[in-house]
Amino acid sequence: MCFAHLPASYLMVKLVGLFGVSFSLPETLTILISGIVPDFDLILGFIMRHGHHRLFTHTPIWMVIIWLIIIGLCGLIGVELSPMTMILILCSLMFHLALDDLGWWFHRLGLQRNSCGPQIIWLYPVQKMPNDENQNLKTTSIINYCLEPIPGYFKKYPANRWTEIFIILMAIIVFVMSNNLC
Ligand SMILES: [Zn+2]
Repeated sequence: MCFAHLPASYLMVKLVGLFGVSFSLPETLTILISGIVPDFDLILGFIMRHGHHRLFTHTPIWMVIIWLIIIGLCGLIGVELSPMTMILILCSLMFHLALDDLGWWFHRLGLQRNSCGPQIIWLYPVQKMPNDENQNLKTTSIINYCLEPIPGYFKKYPANRWTEIFIILMAIIVFVMSNNLC
């Protein structure tokens, strides 16, 4: 997934809200940001000239570490988090990985022809990182590293594309109808 992580986290907040749980604005923003935090490793991927999905920074164990860091940082800057918010921050981080792996499952279900293979090494470090040659990238700038794959991604993976569009549209509709972020 490219652009649907933030909208997906937003939909998650709103879905939980249907059960009467409410979040403050700082809590909501923390959950939303948690949905995109895993992709901050694009910088590391660029430095290593390697696909960032195949770094330890896109694994569940690392999400748990990030989760603890986010909770710690919120404590430091005085953002109070309810237990439900803490759970949702972790869900948001893990959901990011699930969305990144969706293309592989679409492929396995026969919904799209192409596949880059599994994107997430769920059992890392028990399961080793595959050493894919095609993950070694030659790129000249961080902008190219981040943007170059996007047109090909949308062209080659139609199930991913339509899922992204669906999630983004749903989030816009929910936002407009509820008229607030929290
Ligand atoms: Zn990602």
